[in-house]
Parts: sequence; C-alpha cells; structure tokens
Amino acid sequence: MNLEFNTKLADGYSSNSQIARILTEDWVKQNSYCPSCGCLPLNEFANNRPVADFYCSTCSEEFELKSKNGTLTNTITDGAYSTMIERITSNQNPNFFFLTYTKTWSVNNFLIIPKQFFTPEIIIKRKPLSDTARRAGWVGCNIDISNVAEAGKVFLVKDSKLIDRKIVETSFNKTLFLRGKSTDSKGWILDIMKCVDSIHKDSFTLDDVYKYEKKLKLKYQNNNFIKDKIRQQLQQLRDKGILEFVGRGNYKKISL
Ligand SMILES: [Zn+2]
Repeated sequence: MNLEFNTKLADGYSSNSQIARILTEDWVKQNSYCPSCGCLPLNEFANNRPVADFYCSTCSEEFELKSKNGTLTNTITDGAYSTMIERITSNQNPNFFFLTYTKTWSVNNFLIIPKQFFTPEIIIKRKPLSDTARRAGWVGCNIDISNVAEAGKVFLVKDSKLIDRKIVETSFNKTLFLRGKSTDSKGWILDIMKCVDSIHKDSFTLDDVYKYEKKLKLKYQNNNFIKDKIRQQLQQLRDKGILEFVGRGNYKKISL
C-alpha cells in the first residue's frame, strides 16, 4: 500500500473538492484491499450510484468513501439525514471507509466502520439550510464516530502506519455476527461493547460493568433485568472472541 496520492491526476482541475474526490477515489482503487476477504483491488461503481462507491467482486461487500483533509475528528459530514436513517433502518447502508490526508496529499488515516455499527444513535441531524441557500430547508447529517464501539473502527492505516492485513481482516470479520441480530439484540450488544470500551483497563470485573446499570436503565426503562442482560452480552462477546473470561467474574479485552 502506497500512502501517496497520484497528484498527476489533478492536472487541469481547479476545484479543491473535485481534486480531493479524484485523488482519494483513485487512491482507494489503486491501494485498498477488501477488509473482509483481502481481495485486491476494489471495484468502483458507476458514478452517482446513490448507495455506495466501491464493491468487492469476490465477497460483494459494498463501501462508501468519505474523506477529509487534516486529522481524524469525531464527526464526519454525510448526506441527507432522512436518507441516512432510512438506509440504516432498512439495512441498506454500505460499509463506510473514512480517509484523512495531509496537506502534501498522503494518507494519514484510513479506517472502515462496518455497516453493522451504524445505528440511528450515531447519526446527528444538522440544522436545515437557510432560506437563502440553493437547497433551502435541506437537512444533512453528521456521523458521530465517538459513539461507535471500538470494535467498529477498523484501521487499515493509522497515523500514517500500515496495519497488518491479517489483523484488519480478523477485526472486520469478528463482528459480522451482529448483522444477523434483531435491532433490539444488536442494540444491547453494542451498548455493552461501549460500556466495556469506557472501562480504561484491559482487565475488568463484572462489577465494573454493573456500574453502568443505572445508565442502561434510562435507555431500557421497561427492562427489570439489566444485570442479566449485561451478563448475556458479555457471554456473547466472549463466544465471538471479543472478550476473554478469566474466571470468577473477571474479564479481559482481547487486543489484536
Ligand atoms: Zn471481499
């Protein structure tokens, strides 16, 4: 993977957004492999296809690309709010590649957020465009990646360093089981993943997770068995190789 953009392709263009689009799309096409099956290269969809930008011809995963000049931030600007919510709730959203690049046109971060991590909770509605705007009243959205569980941020390049392809594939495929879950059960697992993420140590106890009971109760007001739910999710995360049980209510995060 070469982290430099092919800037020759920008010759003849003056619009910065157009140049960025050409260079970033070309970079993905020339350099990225499929994070699910490792195949290379990814294929581009014909222009203006509304759903995604790239797909893998081997495993059929689809990818949308968003890019940004500068450092990685918590919010990513995306398109229309209503379209995004509709795609998420009907499970039609693609996986989401996010790329950041430096002033000298080289990649500093390239990550994928697998589609199963998209929930309405991470989509933030923006203010409608003002009456004087060309598309007055249009409502866009931001994706809040600070609200995505860590397992849902799979880096291929982090701080200008390549991550081993095997690690990327394992990380990507580890959470595919979430796709087969109902919205409710997926919500529970993601919530517990986020609780575990916010425990800032590699080993923790069941009591550390029970501390989130009150917070979870606010979200799941009709559920009187929050502790049971917590244990069930931890067990699933153990079964899927995301956590390790080390006995007597002690757990360990598995890092790749
Ligand atoms: Zn693939």
